[in-house]
Amino acid sequence: MAEENSVVSEQQVNPAPRVAEAAPSDPNTIEDSVNKKKNEQAFKLPPSKKLCVATTSSADDDDKNKLEVRLGGILCCTVCLDLPKTTVYQCSNGHLMCAGCFNHVMADARIKDDAPTCPNCRVELSRSVCTRNLAVEKAVSELPAECAHCGENFSRNSLDNHEAKLCPNRPATCQYSIIGCSWNGHEKDLTEHEAECKQPTLPGSEILPHVRRQAETADKETVKFEKYMSLLSLEKITFTDLQLRPYRTEEYCNRLYYESTRFSAFGCMFSVNMRLNDDRRDIHLLSERYLSYQVVLRSKPATPRFIIIHTVVRGPYGNMKVNPHIVHHEFTEHVTEGIWTKLPLTDKAECNRLLANRNMDFRIILGQQPVTDF
Ligand SMILES: [Zn+2]
Ligand SMILES: [Zn+2]
Ligand SMILES: [Zn+2]
Ligand SMILES: [Zn+2]
Repeated sequence: MAEENSVVSEQQVNPAPRVAEAAPSDPNTIEDSVNKKKNEQAFKLPPSKKLCVATTSSADDDDKNKLEVRLGGILCCTVCLDLPKTTVYQCSNGHLMCAGCFNHVMADARIKDDAPTCPNCRVELSRSVCTRNLAVEKAVSELPAECAHCGENFSRNSLDNHEAKLCPNRPATCQYSIIGCSWNGHEKDLTEHEAECKQPTLPGSEILPHVRRQAETADKETVKFEKYMSLLSLEKITFTDLQLRPYRTEEYCNRLYYESTRFSAFGCMFSVNMRLNDDRRDIHLLSERYLSYQVVLRSKPATPRFIIIHTVVRGPYGNMKVNPHIVHHEFTEHVTEGIWTKLPLTDKAECNRLLANRNMDFRIILGQQPVTDF
């Protein structure tokens, strides 16, 4: 309790920035700094990670004392020390966490089958106990930040728009890049480059390989689209909205599995399993996380060669961000477990976001391929 109290009271009464390089004479701040260093290691952040508040000259004492720098030290995520870009959560003692770190803590606890706790004060975390802190979210969005391209300061709520659409130094590529121009430069120099770009005047024979590459990429997309169209055109097609729940057995202790309840399709019973990082034992050491799923036939196959085509989509009850994919699998009386398919999530953070929730909701679409087609 003493540790919790000291941390909380320090945040309440001491407005000084809580940076990792605190003066060694202050016992509270040392403890904080140790905690932060531990956290940095746990999340494999580079040791050089510092508060990312914009200053024109970090060596300048005046800049260090600026209100926005001091506020940055107070409003930053207590785990990664960055200023949160989006949602800010807080534990019941008020320690702030960005959405990414919050999901990471929740996902880690799910993997270890532990109760999630605040990395700062060890109080238990849950979606109902942890609240968003709108005041911090708004305050952070008003703090200045440096444009990555031109170095000028903007308020955080306008920085994304500036960097993406307005900054004269934002990276640009020539419009003739699709026919092979490799020019990369600043947006402000683009018009001048395009006016004198040689690419459009080259003979067709030199441009052809680039056009071919573009066509190949488009072809791959078309193939994916056609597979979806043929799945939707099958005589026997069905879908089920699933909720997968985490489960552990003696055999799988320390390993996280998800399982759906049984559902019927084409006169047979099925279920869906999901696992993390293909069941590797050193999962807690890996920074990359991915989920794979498997369709399991839970009854006799409807026909001796029972070919099922399936895909997973978000569905109406979940918010899984998954890319289009199609899986074929032939079930027989002896082969009742489908192949493990890596769930093609749209980005790396999506896996932690899904693991942070208790259940996984998505829709599976299944079609039965007529055997005569082969
Ligand atoms: Zn964070
Ligand atoms: Zn806490
Ligand atoms: Zn800029
Ligand atoms: Zn060009």
